[in-house]
Amino acid sequence: MIKLHDKYFKPFISAAQIDDALARMADEIASDIGDEVPVFVGILNGSFMVVSDFVKKYPKPCEVTFIKLASYEGVKSTEDIQRLIGLTQDLSGRTVVILEDIIDTGNTLAEVHRIFKNENVKALKIATLFYKPEAYKKDFKLHYVGIEIPNKFIVGYGLDYDGLGRNLPEVYQIKETQHMTNLVLFGPPGAGKGTQA
Ligand code: 5GP
Ligand code: MG
Ligand code: MG
Repeated sequence: MIKLHDKYFKPFISAAQIDDALARMADEIASDIGDEVPVFVGILNGSFMVVSDFVKKYPKPCEVTFIKLASYEGVKSTEDIQRLIGLTQDLSGRTVVILEDIIDTGNTLAEVHRIFKNENVKALKIATLFYKPEAYKKDFKLHYVGIEIPNKFIVGYGLDYDGLGRNLPEVYQIKETQHMTNLVLFGPPGAGKGTQA
């Protein structure tokens, strides 16, 4: 277990599981795209580790660039997405693959679609390492998903809690406060041990 600021986090997804998921995604994307040279667009800050590890597994020539958006405050997603660094190159006619660390509500993804609407790209594909289906509120298709996770806050592998945790090579899940129900397990001596008549 680790502590960042005021919260505790428990190990959730190992570096090896992440590696496997990225390898699968790289193979799938490469075989879908064929011989075309795609442009991978990472969404900073969270996706820097995903992009770095993913492109090392991509078996064919590709280009890599970044845009920088921000939506999260503490442990909650907000609808107010700030565009901090936009597109700096002409992507018309290109096959663009967005590389996201995680898709939660989909608000950030909606902003990505707004950004690319007028770019005349040939195709826009969405790839994300993590996806929270219970939290997703949009209809945009997610073309490549690494690992589906429950709607709980995670840190590590690029994802932060108020600035901390991005450097962790694996992923941790927030530890929610213990409920009273956990305590009822302690009954009188012998209780709950299966000693039936
Ligand atoms: P969305 O806009 O889909 O709600 O959230 C997208 C962004 O919010 C992600 O790129 C990421 O930066 C942040 N985010 C969403 N879920 C989590 C989470 O569980 N942990 C952390 N640390 N950031 C998250
Ligand atoms: Mg992100
Ligand atoms: Mg964040």
